[in-house]
Parts: sequence; C-alpha cells; structure tokens
Amino acid sequence: MSADLLIDGLSTLYTCDPSAPGLGEHRQVSLAFAEGELIYLGPPAHAPDAETVIDGEGLIGLPGLVEPHSHAIWAGSRADEFRRRLAGASYSEILEAGGGILSTVAATRRASRQDLAENGRARLVGLRAHGVCTVEIKSGYGLDPATEARMLEAAWDCGDTVRVVPTFLGAHAVPPELKGDRAAYVRQVIDEQLPRVRHLAENIDVYCDRGAFSLDEALEILSAGKVAGLKLRAHAEQVAYTGIAAAAARLGATSVDHLERLPDADIAVLAQYGTVAVLLPGAQLYLRDIPPPVGALREAGVPMALGTDLNPGSSPVHDPWTIAALACILQGLTVEEAVLGLTRNAGLALGRPELGWLGKGSVADLALFRPPAGEPPDVAGLVQQMAGHRAVVLVRDGELVFGA
Ligand SMILES: [Zn+2]
Repeated sequence: MSADLLIDGLSTLYTCDPSAPGLGEHRQVSLAFAEGELIYLGPPAHAPDAETVIDGEGLIGLPGLVEPHSHAIWAGSRADEFRRRLAGASYSEILEAGGGILSTVAATRRASRQDLAENGRARLVGLRAHGVCTVEIKSGYGLDPATEARMLEAAWDCGDTVRVVPTFLGAHAVPPELKGDRAAYVRQVIDEQLPRVRHLAENIDVYCDRGAFSLDEALEILSAGKVAGLKLRAHAEQVAYTGIAAAAARLGATSVDHLERLPDADIAVLAQYGTVAVLLPGAQLYLRDIPPPVGALREAGVPMALGTDLNPGSSPVHDPWTIAALACILQGLTVEEAVLGLTRNAGLALGRPELGWLGKGSVADLALFRPPAGEPPDVAGLVQQMAGHRAVVLVRDGELVFGA
C-alpha cells in the first residue's frame, strides 16, 4: 500500500468525527491520503509510504474548516457607512436612507462577472489561509434576475480557490426601482429570479426581519425554493422577532441564522426538527447587539454552527478564528462548541453532513496549525488567542493545497 500524501507523527488531531466522543482527539497520529481519500489514520509505526511526506511534529490538525454563512462576493465600499454608524446612525436608519445593502447593490450591478469573481477570490484566499476548505456564498446584492445569476456564476468561478456552496438570496432587500412595492418584488423573486438561478444554487435563503421581508413573504419564497429543489436557510430573529426561525424549521430548513431574538418556545421547534442554529458573533459585535440564547440552545440540544457572515457592512470579518473567540466571549460557547461550530456543525448547517470532520464517509479535508508561541499543541490555544491563526498545511479532497 502506498499513498500520495502522508502527514507523519502529527502531535494532536481532532477528527470531529460524529461517532467519536468530544472532538475525537488523537495524539501522535499519522494520516495518509490516496486518490482523493483518507486511507490511513493511526499510529505512525504502521503508516504507509507516500510520495510526499509532511512532518506533523508540534502541529495541531483539524478537519478543513467550513464557512456556513458568507456574503463574500460584492463590489463597492461601505467604509463611509462605518463612519456614519460610529457617529450614531443605526443599521435600520442607514438601510432606510438607501445605504447599507442598497449601496452595495448599486456597485454590484455595475460590476462584471469577472470583477465579482476576482473580488470574491481575493477574500476567499484570505479565508483559505485560515484553514477554510468550504465556503457558502450568498447572492443578494443583485436583486434583479440578471445580476443575481451573475453573482452565482461568479461564486462558481471561485471554485478554483475553495469548495463553494452557492446560496440564492434574492430576498435580501427590495431594490430601489420597486421601493414601496414589496409584493411586486416577491413575485419577481419567485417567477423570474428563481427559475433563472435554480441550477446555479444549492440553497435558498431569505432575510425576514423588520425593514426586510415579512413572515408570510419569506415563507412563500422558501416554499417556492423547496419546490425548485433547493435546501432552505433563513436570516432569522436578528433585528426583530418574526417567527421565521420556527416556521422555516417546520418547512425543513437546514439552518436558521443570527437568532439574537429567538424565544424559548421556538428553540424547542429547532430541536424537534434538527435545524442547525448558525451564530454570527461578528454581526453581534459590529452592531453592538445582544447575544443569541446559547444556554437554552445548548440545553435543548440544538446543534450550533459559527459563521463569519463576511459582508461589506455589518460583519466585515475575514477570520473564522476571531469568530470562534468572539463566540466564546460574547455568546458563551465552550472551546469544544466553537470548534464544532467551525467544522462538523457548519457542514450540517449546509445540509452537507460529509463536510467538517475526518473519518469513513467524510471528505478528505485537513488543516494543520502551529500553536501560538509557547503554547502546547491544543486547540484551546487557537480559540483563546486572537493571533490571526493561519494554516501551515491545507489538504482538500486528499490533495495538498499548500504547505509542502
Ligand atoms: Zn447574512
């Protein structure tokens, strides 16, 4: 037996295998990959020979990280809006004055597919450097059939950088040309955008909130997406409580995201339907918001995933490790919950149970990290210390991406 790639004598590995207890921790272990698969995980003494051998001494291994919630493709700048927010304007006020999402929409409509892909790729290279192998990317800055399709095509173009999971978010805001006529825009999303993009997206998402789409509108759009064969997601209970989290769970959503204003009664519904709660502490920080009810989610057994929510306004955060630290400090997650939030539970949030862990039936994605200076090879140091941890080795589908 010979392998293509051997990671030899890795100090600590966390497989995050759902059948293992905790994070599936191994010490002094070797991993071998051949033909895109993990073919060996065990003691170094029995590991196969390989063409490429990487010494894992002193390093921490994790499954390739999964980013379950990003708006990583956009054009234009919102830095000036940041100045206005610091001067006291609220996110809703900026949105209502045509700023926020709508200013990004104007710039994105002017951008070519190539420009969008180039911008997106530059951000994805940053995420990848931090150990991310898979990135969910939403549309939602086009808000017309042609630009929504162009955004999703640009997302596909970025598949040369990371594994992309594209999500259609036509119901992100009402475009300026239809201001005041939300009903007409809902029709456009369902009758014109959805048929055009259904083969470009894996998921459909809606922004159901005060100042965005109502519960009834959001459910109509998600139901149409379900008929079109897409998996369902929702931006839920962020600014105001609408009831979308529980309603989307009942409709079969794989995840509901944000959840700062999720009440206890609805947490039981998420638990009942196995819906993943995606927490976005970057948005909580930038909007100086309250945390989601993590204690009650934990108690109910709802799986929690973590996303950067990478976007140009409310969460311009490019680093999942910063998100992990913020989730622990601002939201009360444990180190283990934060790690599962960046890996296995993020895969579940995307309805992709093969992502975010290592073992029989998983993808062959691995990220190796050097512990912060002076720290032992323990994942707690990566979560605790905001040092912008970069992977030293990244393997995707059994192939070395970088770090020979
Ligand atoms: Zn979002």
